[in-house]
Amino acid sequence: MNNEKMAQDSQNIPKVTLHEHIEGTITPKMAEKLAERHNVKLPDGFIMPEGSYDKNEFPYGRYGYDESDFWAFIDTYDKVAGLVKTPQDYYDITKDYLSINAKNGGAYCELIISPEHMAVEDGKLSAPKYKAMMEALSKASADVKKEYGMETRFIATAVRNMGTESVVNVAKFVAENHHPLVTGFGIAGNERAGDFDDFKEAHEVAGKAGLKKSYHAGEICGVESIKKAMAHGAVRIGHGINAVNDEVLMKELAEKGVLLEVAPTSNRILVNELEGDINKHPLRKLYDAGIRLTINPDDGGIFGTDNGKEHKIAGETFGFSKAELIDVALCGIEAGFCDDKTKKSLKEKVLSFSAKEDVKEFKSLSTKASNPYLKSRLALRAKEVEAYQKIASYQKGKKNKPIQINKFNQGR
Ligand SMILES: [Zn+2]
Repeated sequence: MNNEKMAQDSQNIPKVTLHEHIEGTITPKMAEKLAERHNVKLPDGFIMPEGSYDKNEFPYGRYGYDESDFWAFIDTYDKVAGLVKTPQDYYDITKDYLSINAKNGGAYCELIISPEHMAVEDGKLSAPKYKAMMEALSKASADVKKEYGMETRFIATAVRNMGTESVVNVAKFVAENHHPLVTGFGIAGNERAGDFDDFKEAHEVAGKAGLKKSYHAGEICGVESIKKAMAHGAVRIGHGINAVNDEVLMKELAEKGVLLEVAPTSNRILVNELEGDINKHPLRKLYDAGIRLTINPDDGGIFGTDNGKEHKIAGETFGFSKAELIDVALCGIEAGFCDDKTKKSLKEKVLSFSAKEDVKEFKSLSTKASNPYLKSRLALRAKEVEAYQKIASYQKGKKNKPIQINKFNQGR
């Protein structure tokens, strides 16, 4: 398949996003709107003036920070996050982001929310404020579902560099203030702050509350952080790209079906080892090692990317074929923190994009795969697509039958 065809397929295919921080979704256009609403003057050069960047590449504007300067990025993130204050602000940024995601083929999205950012009143987590914010987020998600058919869930996430007590408090707060769309618990922030063992109580509280766990690990720190996250019950790892340095761990991830939420552009910008070069990203190696993964924007608004762009990178730079991207989407749904009924209908949505020739493609990919986990998963995908195609053609046949009979009669 040529690269152009791959890029086209990567745009059309239904997509699953499992790693996107809500405040990081804010595009420069949205930041300007919020700054105006709150009478905040953004510093000169904070947003690049029109004409100084490629508008096709950055349709929602471009921030002015230097990509090679980590602290400039953090400063931008903090300033942008500081602009979201009210439930209306949260409604607007969520609606804006989910609409962009859905227009790029998004079928399912999980957004990372931070109670410490959105629900603090007088220095404390406030249940009424959290409730009001969650109402705004739920409305945005319902409005987008109505308009585009996309499903959304939320992962309440603690920030580890705020301290152990704070991580535990967030877990307790989320467990006590149950919301049907908050289905996961996360730990993010500076990976070097604290150890997963320190947050023992948080892991337990989240587990007892039935929240599934996705922890950031193996982005900045090494493989040990990924192992500890898994030991404390994380069924998904935010980033986890350093797993590529440990064959044994890669095998364990593949065997246990622990999914990595990979974010190529974010990693290119923030992970020093990649030296700003997307070609050094281990996306392909991780996939070929049989590890389940999704391809995510992380902080799409701030990094100037979105789910469409990230999938395009997967197609163009890492040669992901249509069948492989269908597999990625299905892996994302299977690892999603939503109920089985939702998963079933999401899988059907993805499979409805498949064609008869994809069965052949999956079979051929499975034959070529040297990793046993990938091999058997792709063989299974061939069967899933085949079964779906059979049902689809049967249903189509049923629908067409009376028309065919009429035609036949008319001919006589
Ligand atoms: Zn993240």
